[in-house]
Amino acid sequence: MTSTTPYRGYVYAYPHKTAYRPLAGHPAGRPLLSELWASEPKDALSLYLHIPFCEVRCGFCNLFTRIGAPDELTTRYLDALDRQAAAVRDALGDAEPVRFAAAAFGGGTPTFLTAGELERLCDIAEKRMGADLRSVPLSVETSPSTATADRLAVLAERGTTRVSIGVQSFVDAEARAAVRPQHRAEVEAALGRIRDARVPVLNIDLIYGIDGQTEESWRFSLDAALAWRPEELYLYPLYVRPLTGLGRHRTDADAPDTAWDEQRLRLYRAGRDHLLAHGYEQVSMRMFRLKDAPQAGPDDYACQTDGMIGLGCGARSYTSSLHYSFDYAVEMREIRGIIDDFTATEDFSRAEVGRYVTGDEARRRHLLQSLLQAEGLERAGYRERFGTDPHADFPAELDRFAARGWLDGSAAPGRLRLSPEGLAHSDALGPELFSPAVRAAMSAYEAK
Ligand code: SF4
Repeated sequence: MTSTTPYRGYVYAYPHKTAYRPLAGHPAGRPLLSELWASEPKDALSLYLHIPFCEVRCGFCNLFTRIGAPDELTTRYLDALDRQAAAVRDALGDAEPVRFAAAAFGGGTPTFLTAGELERLCDIAEKRMGADLRSVPLSVETSPSTATADRLAVLAERGTTRVSIGVQSFVDAEARAAVRPQHRAEVEAALGRIRDARVPVLNIDLIYGIDGQTEESWRFSLDAALAWRPEELYLYPLYVRPLTGLGRHRTDADAPDTAWDEQRLRLYRAGRDHLLAHGYEQVSMRMFRLKDAPQAGPDDYACQTDGMIGLGCGARSYTSSLHYSFDYAVEMREIRGIIDDFTATEDFSRAEVGRYVTGDEARRRHLLQSLLQAEGLERAGYRERFGTDPHADFPAELDRFAARGWLDGSAAPGRLRLSPEGLAHSDALGPELFSPAVRAAMSAYEAK
């Protein structure tokens, strides 16, 4: 297969949730969580709490979130989260120590919740799940209008080590074009409040590839962000997807758009070079970290082997063999229905929707998630886990990447690493490593 665009898809987890299926249809049925987790290591789990609410729906967004949630719905949602946490903690058992090594509140926009509701969210993580939030990295996502002083005070006091804010652009017209109406003054005030809260790591998300964005305006946004000396910056290429706000305005969303690809690649390279010249190191295509900054949140890197407990209706959980979640949707009407189902759920003892990730799929996941990091894959670690070498398991794919100049020929023999061009093409390379079965499941889902 050849790629026609560098922007085929952001691989932040493999397999993608659109490859999950109702487990009731699997021969093993809907497994009990207590059985799923019985023989899993539980001494370095990650905890993720998902809040599927936002004030406005950004035009580029395909995340699982709804806007305009009334107060009674957030209360009902937290009630359900509390019930789910109790059931999951019960399923983890006490036969061996259960310890959480990292926690994150994501969304949606977790700070859509009020300060009081955020206290409750922290209580669920601590009292129900047993996570010691003040002693592990705790990352929280926020937005300019919801990053209020009272909410940030709660989060800082409860142990938040990283706040990530989606700014997207410091140019008001570009923010509007990406269907995110906001004013720079509001963004600057929010950044000031975050710094005042003294959370150790500030991450700013920016987007490139917006209609009308130029290298000059992109550098303007980068410099406005750099003025805050954020410990981390994520630079995201804009994607227009069907069923998101912007997708509705495009009738030819699947047609190749060479000019747009070129704009995004040009802005990516300009952004990368600008940050590298300003004391940042590149962690992945999207993530840049200030050299010597404390590492206070999960990397742009889902750990290859440690388990993850996701709570909330859009969250994924990972054991060593099964990835599972509640149901999944992008379209607003369906999202509402799924959130309502979640809040009405009393029995959280079984995994509902998921996909088994064993054998070949586990190897693909390991290769993908390591290769998409700037530091690449350590071959000895792969061999130790699977008993084979990645070159033996994926010869065609790796030869193809090498032929395109995407692998770094100067890397030490024990390391498989992308070249700068390979990193620039992460969103083309990642999907090429999907298995035929996962690809088929994803396209069958999208055809629904
Ligand atoms: S991009 Fe973030 S803030 Fe915007 S709608 Fe999606 S989840 Fe909400």
